[in-house]
Amino acid sequence: MSEIVLKGIPAAPGIAYGPSFILDKGEFIVPKRSISLSEIDSEIARFEEAINNARREIHLLKDKITQDMGLAHAQIFDAHLLVLQDMTLINQVTAGIREAKSSAEYVFFTVIKKFVEAFAQMPDEYLRERASDVSDISKRVLKHLMDESKLHDLDSLQDDLIIVAHDLSPSDAVSMYNKKIKGFLTDIGGRTSHTAIIAKSLGVPAVVGLKDATLRINNQDSVIIDGQKGLVIINPSAETKELYIKEQHKITASLEKLDDLKSLPAQTIDGKKVAILANLELSSEISSVRKYGAEGIGLYRTEFLYMNRLDLPSEEEQYEAYSQVARAVAPFGVTIRTLDLGGDKFISSVQIPRDMTPFLGCRAIRFCLERPDIFKTQLRAILRASVHGCVQMMYPMISGLGELRQANAILTQVKAALRDEKIPFDENIKVGIMIEVPAAVMTAEALARETHFFSIGTNDLIQYTLAVDRVNEKTAHLYEPAHPAVLKMIQKTIDAGHNEGIHVGLCGEMASDPLLAFLLLGMGLDEFSMSAASILMVKRMVVSVKLQDAQRVAYEAMQLATGQEVEEFVGSQLQKYLPS
Ligand code: PEP
Ligand code: MG
Repeated sequence: MSEIVLKGIPAAPGIAYGPSFILDKGEFIVPKRSISLSEIDSEIARFEEAINNARREIHLLKDKITQDMGLAHAQIFDAHLLVLQDMTLINQVTAGIREAKSSAEYVFFTVIKKFVEAFAQMPDEYLRERASDVSDISKRVLKHLMDESKLHDLDSLQDDLIIVAHDLSPSDAVSMYNKKIKGFLTDIGGRTSHTAIIAKSLGVPAVVGLKDATLRINNQDSVIIDGQKGLVIINPSAETKELYIKEQHKITASLEKLDDLKSLPAQTIDGKKVAILANLELSSEISSVRKYGAEGIGLYRTEFLYMNRLDLPSEEEQYEAYSQVARAVAPFGVTIRTLDLGGDKFISSVQIPRDMTPFLGCRAIRFCLERPDIFKTQLRAILRASVHGCVQMMYPMISGLGELRQANAILTQVKAALRDEKIPFDENIKVGIMIEVPAAVMTAEALARETHFFSIGTNDLIQYTLAVDRVNEKTAHLYEPAHPAVLKMIQKTIDAGHNEGIHVGLCGEMASDPLLAFLLLGMGLDEFSMSAASILMVKRMVVSVKLQDAQRVAYEAMQLATGQEVEEFVGSQLQKYLPS
């Protein structure tokens, strides 16, 4: 098997090596299960029984359809029955059980998948369409071989796999957090999709936008992920493996060198101190926030509390979760962002209509204002938790003063109710907004007068400014953080905030890139919040430069015409102060 290299979009850094698992949500998940020598015969008998049961079912179905609709409609089942009598299929499965000493369902699943693929690639259209028949039959047989409820269950995934999927929703990625997943690869998706963000949060490498990885990688292939360069190597040669082992040692050694920075303030050579904080998606990841020396949490994405469950989290449950985070980060603070559902994040407990363009639809604060019942529950929980540490809150996707006032009016009601009930909360809690919609940038002065702080959400601000979907790999080359239009948006927000005397932070992925962070430092940003694992690299940049140099570089960069020119210029300048 020769080595194949695929190039995609780097989404989460790191190197991983392991067997692949092709996750097709439309299909079943059949975990690999080894069997002992003595179990082989009973496993083959189980397989034969499953085939017989499936045949019986199809005969019954055929009779019923013939009665109800006529023979012509029932003829499709003859084709299904033929597949179940196919001796090539049956022999391959029985031989596979013997040779691989694997469970009947796993071997059957592997063999039938190849049949489906073979049909799907046939030149004749009629035969191509038979792929779905074979796929139907496989489901029918599998239901007799394993617990049906487990067939779509991501929890039944084994550990130490590299997950390969056409698409992976943020909630799918979250549901794997307690598995030792080694990395994620997807056909579609962009660098700042929430799946990529979750991969970072879990500390595993990810490459997205690989276009056809699910077709080019087979189950159980050996795969290397190079999350820094966005490469995937299928069946790597011994030399390639060796090369990557060395690369991994190099990365570990250079990260160890950064360890000394943990307890130092993020202060430039000429004395400008900035705050470097962590983003938090899963409260279970709180320990990594401390591990990398974050000065608190600049963005707590609370929507992940609402995912992978059939009910909404109660006020009590949210109160517990927020209080736990507030206590864990003390003496530092946490900025809790109110629910940001929609876009690429959905939950099962509330039906949000799927908009034609979800990122422009009923998302984030828009959803909360439509569902004040859900919003109020969260606000109560946040306010109650505010007595357990230094808690502030912010609203996502604010697009103007009207929305901010509506949200604040609800907050005022919730505070009044708590006072009536004699439930304590921090009366001076700071309430900020995310600046991630161009309309908010254009009205930033007015917004700044009615809020305590800004946090720039560049992941969205870039997509809305440049009209480039953040999760679409086809336009990923146009998703440019250093585009002059984006830089002007950021500069305007910082200046508006400072003119009105409020603090301006940034919590999009842009903050975690040392080159762009150098530029942002020069533009006057007060606070950088990012995935915890990037903190020390950015701090290394801050302590290696002077604010006045960063300011000069930012000024000159703002005169340039394209994002590429900006990146090249800033990169060449930064290299002077930070050669490594
Ligand atoms: C952003 O948009 O930059 C941001 C931090 O929010 P999210 O990525 O959760 O949309
Ligand atoms: Mg956002």
